[in-house]
Amino acid sequence: MALRTIRVEGDPILRKECRPVKEMNERTHILINDMFDTMYEADGVGLAGPQVGILKRLCVIDCGDDPLVLINPEIVSVEGEQIGQEGCLSVPGKYGIVKRPAKVTVRALNEDMEEYEVTGEGLLARALCHEIGHLDGQMYVDLVIGELHSYDEEMESEEIEEMSE
Ligand code: ZN
Repeated sequence: MALRTIRVEGDPILRKECRPVKEMNERTHILINDMFDTMYEADGVGLAGPQVGILKRLCVIDCGDDPLVLINPEIVSVEGEQIGQEGCLSVPGKYGIVKRPAKVTVRALNEDMEEYEVTGEGLLARALCHEIGHLDGQMYVDLVIGELHSYDEEMESEEIEEMSE
């Protein structure tokens, strides 16, 4: 298990556009494993390349069902909308209200560079949009409706875990 340092808001790397992954190699396999370790250690549900200082179009997500590796992901369709709380491991201690599609279908490559599609609703739809945003240098704080809030100390820790991406 190897943990990577999570970059935080203010680090210019979070605002850069990532380059597509052209081939899978040992280095990228290790990166993916490290990203899962780092995400789980931080109690997050998603983590994107730039958050660990790597400008590759690559992210990992685990909303509690299946762990997903998304390489060169593209949103192919969106449906409806949801308005809810969102947080980010790169903006620790904060959350905000963000409007996202209710349902999202994404086409990506898996860790074997095989194409697949995943459709997510609710938290997964939110996580897919959030992580793909990171690959284009977008931070959720740009999309927040109203103010960015600090976590209330009385808030259940479980709730916090669900929101960090
Ligand atoms: Zn994030």
